[in-house]
Amino acid sequence: MIKEKLKEINQELPAHVKLIAVSKTHPPEAILEAYESGQRAFGENRVQEILLKKPLLPGDIEWHLIGHLQTNKVKVIIPFVSLIHSVDSSKLFHAINKEAENLNIRVNCLLQFHIATEETKYGFDINEAFELLNQIMKQNDTHVNICGVMGMATFTDEMDLVRTEFRTLKSYFKQIKERYFSSDPQFSVISMGMSGDYHLAIEEGSTMVRIGSLIFGERSYLK
Ligand SMILES: *Cc1c(COP(=O)(O)O)cnc(C)c1O
Repeated sequence: MIKEKLKEINQELPAHVKLIAVSKTHPPEAILEAYESGQRAFGENRVQEILLKKPLLPGDIEWHLIGHLQTNKVKVIIPFVSLIHSVDSSKLFHAINKEAENLNIRVNCLLQFHIATEETKYGFDINEAFELLNQIMKQNDTHVNICGVMGMATFTDEMDLVRTEFRTLKSYFKQIKERYFSSDPQFSVISMGMSGDYHLAIEEGSTMVRIGSLIFGERSYLK
């Protein structure tokens, strides 16, 4: 099943859109099955789960952290992740920067924006992001590569609302690119789109989709 699903999805993804297979709650065997059909990028939302699964699986897997990260877990996870999608506050940004400096590594991150109507979803609003970026630009060096933006749309059947939210995220990406990264090709990622809305996300400019249940089936507990 996993292999067939991946094949179907890959066949319809445009070449500029990268697939992150969201494996949270699923066992290493399921990840291995996806790996064997060529998938290398996997998304998890809990630090503990990455630390458990990583040693059991091939070393060339890219681990993407897509869930909220607590500052006290930054240190243990940053050596192991290819991209943190969920940098959702200045406080977290600074914590990552500090630990990355201590470890003398560079960490790839996306700024997560709050685009949904639900209050529970984490993320910056655009002015908070400008504030952080203004601050960062004054420092001559940071250990964080800001590679783009991430957002989650409202969980709803109202596809017009979802589309509007994706458009908002795309416009944030453009504004930030123009103001801060116009000559920096690294700032290039728009991470949006999940199992239920990734077609729409791609129409609205997504470059990275995070798909879980469509590939691996329903999760045994809600995340
Ligand atoms: C769980 C999760 C996904 C994947 O959700 P599906 O609906 O199963 O595709 C994507 N992004 C984030 C941030 C998630 O937590």
